[in-house]
Amino acid sequence: MNPVRTAEQAGVMECPQCSAIHPRRRGGSACDRCGAALHLRKPDSLRRTWAFLLAAMALYLPANILPIMTTGTLLGSQTNTILSGVVYLWQDGSYFVAAVVFCASIVIPIFKLAVLLMLVITVQVRSIWRPVERTRLYGMVEAVGRWSMVDVFVVALLASLVRLDALATVRPEPGAIAFGAVVVLTMLASMSFDPRLIWDPLDAHDKQA
Ligand SMILES: [Zn+2]
Repeated sequence: MNPVRTAEQAGVMECPQCSAIHPRRRGGSACDRCGAALHLRKPDSLRRTWAFLLAAMALYLPANILPIMTTGTLLGSQTNTILSGVVYLWQDGSYFVAAVVFCASIVIPIFKLAVLLMLVITVQVRSIWRPVERTRLYGMVEAVGRWSMVDVFVVALLASLVRLDALATVRPEPGAIAFGAVVVLTMLASMSFDPRLIWDPLDAHDKQA
């Protein structure tokens, strides 16, 4: 028994940009109000999400192992990875900043990647396991995504924390590029995922029952 009537069953579709409701038409036609392309679902959602997610996961390791920046002062230069930067900040007594950088650059990216991986796997095998909780988890990833410039901010923050005397230099290293790519690819993976896919196996399940 599925008491929910979907837009598809009602013969209408919603504009993804401006939320105007249109009679259901062939996909790809444009919204009368804002001109955005109309789709019943996010096109090719599962395959796109997989592609962005796998690329993000592949770059996660270099992002954390490679140095993200070299800071040079008169006293010598120092090259840091994300984690060694966090340790450095902590030992320096900047506990709050160390905690923020640790959360934004390690905890949140791992959380997002883990949730998205769990979602694509459960959708792929057409799991009917805890759809409400899975939909909520996706909502959390999306919510985090809205202020995920925090991740990029971290690199800027790290750079600014070097006590900038006149002769100090900050040079980004390859790890920073890998980290930026992880952030962007994770955002794209999250945007590509269509949470309605979570509920499709349940509809099929209900029809069989
Ligand atoms: Zn529109």
